Amino acid sequence: MYPELLGTYGDGGNGLVLSERARRRGVDVELVRAGMDDRLPVGDVYLLGGGEDGPQRLAVALLREAEFSKHVDDGAMVFAVCAGLQMLGTSFSVQGDDQYVGLGLVDAVTTRAPARAVGDLVTTVEGITMVGFENHGGETTIGAGVKPFASVVHGRGNDGRVDGFRSGRIWATYAHGPVLALNPWLADAVLVEALGLGELAPLDSVADRLYETRCQALMKRSAD
Ligand code: GLN
Repeated sequence: MYPELLGTYGDGGNGLVLSERARRRGVDVELVRAGMDDRLPVGDVYLLGGGEDGPQRLAVALLREAEFSKHVDDGAMVFAVCAGLQMLGTSFSVQGDDQYVGLGLVDAVTTRAPARAVGDLVTTVEGITMVGFENHGGETTIGAGVKPFASVVHGRGNDGRVDGFRSGRIWATYAHGPVLALNPWLADAVLVEALGLGELAPLDSVADRLYETRCQALMKRSAD
C-alpha cells in the first residue's frame, strides 16, 4: 500500500518476495501497488511498510477514508512493518510528542522513546530466528490480550523484550530488510495464512541459502 508514502525502507520488496515465492509454487498471484490516488484494491493480503512520521500520518488518514478496516473485518490478511505496525494500533506519537489516533485494529499504543532504535534486530518467532534491521523512534505497548509477534534477542522491537504483534490475521513487526526477503520461511508462512494453502514445498533459492548462512553466523557468534 502507498509506495510513495510507505516505501522509505524498501519494504515494497515484501510484495515481490511473496508474489515470486507463490509463483514458484504454481500459485497465480497479482501484486498490486496501490498509490495514494488509487482506489483501495480488494486483496487477500495487504502489505504496509515503514515510513517517515508525516507520510505515516497521511497514510492513516487515507486508509481510514478508504474504509480499510472493512477489508480486514471481511477476512483479509495484513502484514505490516514499523510505521505500518504503529498505524494499526489505537494511537501513536510522531513529530514532537503529539499523540495521533491510529486505525485501532489492534490494542497497541506507540509512544516516543528517549532514543531512536537503529541497527540489527534479531528475534525468534516460536523458536525460529527472524533477522532484520530497525530504524524507529517509537516504543510500542501491546494490550494484555494481544500476542507479540516475536521475542527480541538483539535490538528493541516494541520495547527490548518483544517485537510486533499478531492479532488474528494481522501480523506486524518492526523488522525491515525487507524482512520477507531475509526470512523466506516467514514469507511462506504469510502465503499459507493469506491464501489458506497447505504446507509449501521448500525452495532452494539464494535467499533460502543466505538465511541458513545468517543463522549459522548468529549461532557461531553466540557460542564465541
Ligand atoms: N516514523 C516511525 C518512527 O520513527 C516509523 C519509522 C519506520 O517506519 N521505520 O517511529
